[in-house]
Amino acid sequence: MMRMTVLASGSKGNSAVIASSRTRILVDAGFSCRELMRRMKLVGEDPYALNAVIITHEHADHVAGLSVLARKLNIPVYFTEATHRAWVRQMTPRTTMGYKQWLEKTRAEKEARLEAQALAHQIATSSQEDRPDDHFFATDIDVDAIDATTDPEAALQAAAADDLCEDLPAETKSSVRDNPSYLPAVEYFEAGKRLCIGDIDVMPFTIPHDAADPCGFVFEGEGLRFGFATDLGYVPQNVKLALKKCDVLLLESNHDLEMLRDGPYPWSVKQRVLSRVGHLSNAAAAEFLTRDYDGGAHAIILAHLSESNNMPELARLAAEQALGNHPSLLGNRILLADQAAPMEPLVM
Ligand SMILES: [Zn+2]
Ligand SMILES: [Zn+2]
Repeated sequence: MMRMTVLASGSKGNSAVIASSRTRILVDAGFSCRELMRRMKLVGEDPYALNAVIITHEHADHVAGLSVLARKLNIPVYFTEATHRAWVRQMTPRTTMGYKQWLEKTRAEKEARLEAQALAHQIATSSQEDRPDDHFFATDIDVDAIDATTDPEAALQAAAADDLCEDLPAETKSSVRDNPSYLPAVEYFEAGKRLCIGDIDVMPFTIPHDAADPCGFVFEGEGLRFGFATDLGYVPQNVKLALKKCDVLLLESNHDLEMLRDGPYPWSVKQRVLSRVGHLSNAAAAEFLTRDYDGGAHAIILAHLSESNNMPELARLAAEQALGNHPSLLGNRILLADQAAPMEPLVM
């Protein structure tokens, strides 16, 4: 028996459980510890039965609850070395200045950003010639908003909720005070090198995305292969090869090109999403399914759908049309991963 349960998927948070009958792995921890535990309980996954967490990359929508969750459950975290280093850098400024100071700094930053946005709006609505180049607009918009928690207040609430979730032995608490990126255990893996977690084999592969060392995975256990590829600007050859013969395929279908072009994001952010290290469009996912996919999966889960630049029906339609080339009675069931609620566990 192999089981995959998507707890959340999208730019506000990503996480899934991959389980064999003996091993349970959490892939990414992109919500607060409390919310991840709540969602696991909703779908009947016991958080305390998890054996490890594995991280695709350090963007906030993939690691927001990581430190608190790993410490609470006392389980190892698997990263590439470069991703771990980037994550540690990300964690350090916040807590070396103390939680209260960090709160104040975040509030001040939010005010400054709102002021800058108001100014940009003034300039944008004044004469065309006075308009500064795109760089100005790039700085006042949180470019990470595409991948990270968009609302700073929500991030603060998540952090506060996590504080309550953190219920640790005194010894661990002092380690955390000294080192905010303290984890019970860190294990390194490398893209292209197979590793074992319990009785699940994991094959990490490099994906093109604007992070330190981003990876997709194929999880293999009990004769089944579960492929996992989100947060990639396009599908390069190594990813096409890695995703062969999957029994379940979780694939990014982030945006509809027209919705993104006509949508609310500033041009600089649109450029980033569209770039070779951004996110996979419905059309690009469909192209992969038409040209490169071998047609053998029982289910295809479309994931990391943008809430501003996509609609579930559009993602589904593009994939369905692409799969028209792979007629099959039982396989190729298309499922949509959701941001707001966990999916039904997929058991094979
Ligand atoms: Zn990302
Ligand atoms: Zn992401």
